[in-house]
Order: sequence, then C-alpha cells, then structure tokens
Amino acid sequence: MRDVKGTHIVVIGAARSGIAAALLLKHKEAKVFVTDSGAISMSSKAKLIDAGITFEENGHTSVAEAASFAVLSPGVPTKAPIVQTYLSEGKEVFSEIEVASWFTNERILAVTGSNGKTTVTTWLSHIWETANVDFSLSGNIGYAFSEKVEANGDHILEVSSFQLDHITTFKPDISVLLNITPDHLDRYEYSLEKYAASKFRITENQTANNWFIFNYDDPLIKQHVEALQQNESFPQLWGFSNKHEVPEGAFVRNDHIIFRFNNKEETLMSVFELGLKGQHNLQNGLAAALAARAAEIKNEAIRESLKTFTGVEHRLEIAREVDGVKYINDSKATNVNAVWFALDSYNVPMTLILGGRDKGNDYSELIDQIKEKVHTVIAIGESKERVKEQLEAVSPNFEMAETMRDAVRAAKKVAKRGEVVLLSPACSSFDMFDDYEHRGKVFKEEVNKL
Ligand code: ADP
Repeated sequence: MRDVKGTHIVVIGAARSGIAAALLLKHKEAKVFVTDSGAISMSSKAKLIDAGITFEENGHTSVAEAASFAVLSPGVPTKAPIVQTYLSEGKEVFSEIEVASWFTNERILAVTGSNGKTTVTTWLSHIWETANVDFSLSGNIGYAFSEKVEANGDHILEVSSFQLDHITTFKPDISVLLNITPDHLDRYEYSLEKYAASKFRITENQTANNWFIFNYDDPLIKQHVEALQQNESFPQLWGFSNKHEVPEGAFVRNDHIIFRFNNKEETLMSVFELGLKGQHNLQNGLAAALAARAAEIKNEAIRESLKTFTGVEHRLEIAREVDGVKYINDSKATNVNAVWFALDSYNVPMTLILGGRDKGNDYSELIDQIKEKVHTVIAIGESKERVKEQLEAVSPNFEMAETMRDAVRAAKKVAKRGEVVLLSPACSSFDMFDDYEHRGKVFKEEVNKL
C-alpha cells in the first residue's frame, strides 16, 4: 500500500486505463492532473470534470511536467518526449497496473504473452465461476485494473508488455507467460529480445511463495527460466507443454492431461474433452489449469471448466454452417502466428480470407500449412498485393476482394461440403474497419446473409 494523499501526480494519456488511474488516485486523495497529446473524448472529459480532476488536451504544457511522478496509459510509448522529460529528471514513471496494485491485498493472477491472453483470462474466469470463488477480471480486457482494484476476491488480469514496461513493485501471486512471438516490435526498437525482456518483468518481484507458469516449449522463455533459477529468490516454476513431459507442471501423455508436482502425477482428463479446438487452445487450457491449481482450486472444478468453456468471440468462433461449410471468425488473429495456429486447428480443406493493415508480416511462415490444406486464399485490405506476392504461387486458387461482402461471397463459391472458410487476417483491421470486433461482426453479418 502506498500513500498518495496530497501527492502531485500527472497521468499521461486519457484512454480508458489513464482515466481509470486518475479517478482511483483522486479517490485516494492525490492531486491529479491529466494530460493528453491528442483530443480527449467527451465522455472521458465528463468523468474527469465530475471527479474534480483538471486536465489538458492536444498537447502538454509545463503543468504536465511539474508532478512528483507520472502514470502512463499503456498507449503512450516510453519514447514520448513528456515521458523522457520525467525520466531525465530522475522522476518515477509508473504504468497503470503498477499504480492500481498499490491499493489491494487480494491475490493477483497476471496473464501475459503474445497470443492467447484474452482466451486464458476468460477461461480462468470461467474456472473461478465454476468453482464459486470470488474474482474480478480486468487489465487489457474490458475494464482497467484501476476500475476493479477495490473489488473483493482474486484479481485476474490480462497484462500487455506495455503495462509491464513501467512496473516497480507489481507482484502477481501467480503469473502466466503463454508465448513470445514477434508483435508490437515497433515499440521495442524492433528487437525481439527487448520485447521478451519486457514480458519477463512479470516475474521480477515474485518470490518463493508465488508461481510462474510458463510455456515449456518456448526457447526464449526457457532461457529466462534458467536465468531466474540463478536468483536468490524466485517463484515456483510450473511449465506446460503439449509436446514434452515437464518436470513440474502440466503435459500430455497418451492424449491425457497430466499434472506433475513433486514427482507425483495426477491424470486430469482426456484432451478430447477440452471445450476448445486446436493445439494452441490445448496450451491455453494447460496454462489455465495450472494457474487454477496454484490458486488451490479443486481438480474437479478445473476439469469441469476445461470441458465447458466455449471460447471468446472473434477467436476461432464458429459463425455459422451453411450447406455443410463451417464459417469461422478469427478476426482477432492480428499476427501471422495466430493464423498458423488457426490453420493448424482444422484438418479439412479450407478457404482462407486474410489481409488488412500489415505490420511487416512474413506470410511465408504459412506456406507449409497452405500447401497442405488451403485450396483458396482470398486477400483483402491494404496488404492484398503483399499477400499476393508471397502466397499466390503456393495456393491452387488466389483471389482478391475489395470488401468483406465480396470475400465471403467468393468463398461461398469455392467451398464444398465438409470444408471450412476461415477469416484469420494476420493484420490489424484499421484499413477497412473500426477495430477487429467490427471486422468480425461484418464477416458474421455477411455470412448470415448467405
Ligand atoms: P490476445 O489477448 O493475447 O491477443 P486472444 O486470446 O485474443 O489473444 O487470441 C488472439 C489470436 O491468437 C486468436 O486468433 C486466437 O485464435 C490465437 N491464439 C489464441 N491462443 C493462442 C496461443 N496460445 N498461441 C497462438 N495463437 C493463439
């Protein structure tokens, strides 16, 4: 617990998390000022005015530089000049989750990784509900941590690397690192090591009473675990793997999920009973099961929840079946790795709709899977020419579509009974849509019109 009463604090960035932090700090009697380099939405301004918090928008004045410390909304990069001003003066800069964590004594479960965070945190909520244990879900998902921090029960948090960039005391009781693949490298000087290092910070304050649940098959993460073991104090290390047997944690043997702790094994369930398809969701399920186990939730409730979880909208979501063809909405697949796992989840001939705003993607990682089971690639969005260059030669049919409507209609023409049409774009959506949710919604609307 940190006393902020009377302290001058500047919150930089008035997006959801920034506003939430400002309101929490004001409630804790700090002197808060909010600054944003762009415009602040009407609804956010109304919240600040209601709470009696002063603010400025469309640029920073000297008032913004005068606080004892700064709090960053995750959208604000460390290299922003105002952040650099604080750092160069030796003043502290905190992320919103760091600040929120000062105000709770409840258990914290924090999930990070490049892909699967929302799936795993939502899956955890489902386990907690099934087990009837109090919790709140926040972070990068729906609510900011600051909005939920005063709730009773376990805090289940989805944490991005940006939130971890500015922690000092943030100490999850149970942390989960799902995987590390290139994403958001623009914020880390295009260095995978720097991006990985920011994810590893999730363990930096953890001690022997805490747990670190990690992907045993990810080489970068494994190196980190080896380094952690050299420290004087480190959390209990539980690995998960769908490929190898782990010394401590969860793995698969003869199609069964096995827990292994202190050299004792427990068989949890058959992998075929899992509610979600795909090897990535097997990994997600193993991670969620371990986190629940670390929180002393009974195997029975874990088993039940692993079976009954139906997934999250826009992540390999079955939109509809038309004439024996399944239409799958994976609009949240905004990088190539997520598409790889989406393709890996089906063993039937497929039509793949992909493209959008490209972040420097290497689509060639998909070539083997495309050769094996995709008969038609339909490229959409700004990146369609780039997709064409890289994938036209490997796909038996290649088409380009101007709109989602055209893409869905083109897919309908080529897909046969028993097959899958998959929207898994590998790109962000901002070239054609408001966000990935909007893209998924339009896809589903078009599918429903077929
Ligand atoms: P995040 O919150 O980390 O963005 P989501 O759960 O929203 O992750 O899933 C994003 C995309 O990644 C979806 O297309 C989903 O199917 C895919 N995905 C989910 N879990 C994994 C995983 N463990 N490894 C790779 N891809 C995954």
